[in-house]
Amino acid sequence: LELIESDRLKEQFIATMSHELRTPLTAILGFSTLLMRQFHQRFDEQQVMLIERVIENGRHLLHLIEDILDVTRLRANQVELQLETFDAVSLVIHVVEELRSLAEKKNLELNLQIFQPSIIVMNDQTRLRQILVNLISNAIKFTETGNVTVQIRSPQRGQLAIAVQDTGIGISETDLNLIFQEFRQVNQTLARQHSGTGLGLAITKALTQLMGGEISVQSQVGQGSCFLVELPCQVSHP
Ligand code: ADP
Repeated sequence: LELIESDRLKEQFIATMSHELRTPLTAILGFSTLLMRQFHQRFDEQQVMLIERVIENGRHLLHLIEDILDVTRLRANQVELQLETFDAVSLVIHVVEELRSLAEKKNLELNLQIFQPSIIVMNDQTRLRQILVNLISNAIKFTETGNVTVQIRSPQRGQLAIAVQDTGIGISETDLNLIFQEFRQVNQTLARQHSGTGLGLAITKALTQLMGGEISVQSQVGQGSCFLVELPCQVSHP
């Protein structure tokens, strides 16, 4: 009972802290964006660069806080999908283009393979985008040479499958069981090479399940990984 109580307190602490951190951060972001927009002409190059860095780091911090809030909400079954009809193929094309510069910075090829010109789905567009961004940015982050390939198809009527494949560092069999757990990373030492909180895959898995789908992974150390998300085209509220 003591363990349950301390777990509950920890959850509450995380939720309250994330919420409290978000409020001043939103103000910092709002004011620095305003500063940039209104006084842009009066600043010199150095000043513009400094404000851009405030905005960039603020956005990064906000993203981390949102992830922590998402994890607590998903665990408490408080995430509700905002269902709408849209074309999943256009969404994937957009997300891949948004992330292309990340791949280019590392000289990686980012390929997109489309099997049907459009796949109309009923789903939460923002949440599906979140799943895609998590998987594709991980694939880019954990790959040093080669390519990242995103595939979208409808393998049979009413089904949507999205695969994100990379030629990166890969994941060992023992670690494959751990990576979907919250705060889990393969290299958890402070000297680790890649930044991140270890929440992306936990959120991705919980969202996929909330959508009535599944996520699976195949990987070989030193060869690369392939994450596959399988979803129904018509998602309904659980
Ligand atoms: P983060 O990326 O913030 O560390 P994630 O939950 O997204 O957290 O991933 C958890 C861990 O799974 C990562 O730290 C990494 O060790 C491993 N991982 C995820 N995606 C890949 C990938 N494409 N290739 C190799 N390892 C990966």
